[in-house]
Amino acid sequence: MGYTKIAAEIGMTKNAVAAFCRRNGLSGNMSVSADKSEDGLCRECGKPLVQEDGMKTRVFCSKECKAKWWREHPEKMNHKATYQFVCAACGRPFEAYGNSKRKYCSHDCYINARFKGGGGHE
Ligand SMILES: [Zn+2]
Ligand SMILES: [Zn+2]
Repeated sequence: MGYTKIAAEIGMTKNAVAAFCRRNGLSGNMSVSADKSEDGLCRECGKPLVQEDGMKTRVFCSKECKAKWWREHPEKMNHKATYQFVCAACGRPFEAYGNSKRKYCSHDCYINARFKGGGGHE
């Protein structure tokens, strides 16, 4: 059944039916995004999430929930690999989270290495 039919059937507006279905994860096949990797609920409080087009898939409804979840699940942090590097510019060791392609410890070192001998002025 379409929203219009349901709405007529139970005496609600079509929009109200559509909103209700969206809230309860019952949206038909018309507006479900293809890459539904998450279940669309906040990992911390279970509230439905509003995904923004072109943005990374959200898993928390708010910064607060995200912070709380990470506080309660510190062990999950370890799943993110920490990579050890030696800065290609200054030679200092440093580490980075979840990025195996870092070469420099800082943006300054990156600039230094790329534009070597460029003088001291900004
Ligand atoms: Zn939440
Ligand atoms: Zn460096």
